[in-house]
Amino acid sequence: MSFNDVLSRIDIDFVNDKLNSITSNDIEEIINRNSFSFSDFLYLASKPAENFLEEMAKKARRLTLQHFGRTISLYIPLYLSNYCLNSCIYCGFRHDNDIPRKTLGLPEIEREMQLIAEKGFTQILLLTGEHPHEAPLSYLVEAVKLAKKYFALVTIEIYPLDYQGYRALHEAGVDGITLYQETYDRKVYSEMHGTGPKSDYLFRLDAIERSAKVGIRNIGIGILLGLSDFRLDAYLLACHAVYLLKHYWQSFLSISFPRLKEIPGGLNIPYIVTDRNLTQLILAFRLVFPEIGLVISTRESAELRDNLLPLGITRISAGSHTEPGGYSAPDIKSAQFYVEDRRSPMEVVSKIKSIGYDPVWLDWSSEFSSKDRQD
Ligand code: SF4
Repeated sequence: MSFNDVLSRIDIDFVNDKLNSITSNDIEEIINRNSFSFSDFLYLASKPAENFLEEMAKKARRLTLQHFGRTISLYIPLYLSNYCLNSCIYCGFRHDNDIPRKTLGLPEIEREMQLIAEKGFTQILLLTGEHPHEAPLSYLVEAVKLAKKYFALVTIEIYPLDYQGYRALHEAGVDGITLYQETYDRKVYSEMHGTGPKSDYLFRLDAIERSAKVGIRNIGIGILLGLSDFRLDAYLLACHAVYLLKHYWQSFLSISFPRLKEIPGGLNIPYIVTDRNLTQLILAFRLVFPEIGLVISTRESAELRDNLLPLGITRISAGSHTEPGGYSAPDIKSAQFYVEDRRSPMEVVSKIKSIGYDPVWLDWSSEFSSKDRQD
């Protein structure tokens, strides 16, 4: 049974009714527990739970210290290509957006990697748009092999592949994959991804399982906050997490919280997700899933990221550029999205230390977790 089978059996109207009927009394009944189960997720993500963020934050901080200590691991994204065949209305790389396009050649990739390695990073995330002609599998394999020369942990955030593709990347040295479904709401998904290969909801939904099946140990999922009703989508994301933890227990699972801040062309964001909403979701995931990684990127402001750090976040990016070649020749016109936290990696490291946490350049927690579970 795939996650799609599970998803198809969820009665969305029932979940919605349940979400809308939760009261403050219901939250009071569960909030003083020392541990939470999946059945509590809907309560913790509901509107009335917004009034209990302080209590949730105290428990989330304690649980994170228990499971991850004071470590915050650091990674940096490297965009290899901004060519894309898709039409995701929210993305600067969508095919009909008039921006300078570029695919880095291997010497350019190596130059970028050298610059990144000089900053101290040992974890890198390689990204592309979805254009199998501009960034084919053979190109990605070479990029991964190059990355292994410079970085201990190489993860990818690229278009979904078949088994053969993931196997080739795993053999080349890929340690982890991040792949957001963007939204689990099929209707919204179709509206947002009208043309291009990404319009295939199911091929994308099953991709993370394909990657786990070929042995990629670090798997990351998420929704793009702002596309749909975030409370319902977060619940479906939690369902996906439960499914993956059960079926791919040898993997280390992370959840990311990308949030739409603006849409190219000045379109309105369909569902505004406030800082408070985002904080609540992070707390709800931490309380129900104390052992998974929680990731926040430089899409968010420095101030918000600093405030979120002790509440459950285990991994953050720093010093990011979202355009191919951005570390040697920044060019905001060809970027995927605007980076809000523009601090240097060393500034981020100083901040982490100043609040009593330990910045780690290599995420050993995920490595140990996956190996422990394997043995
Ligand atoms: S979100 Fe990804 S697939 Fe969609 S347009 Fe942007 S780069 Fe392409």
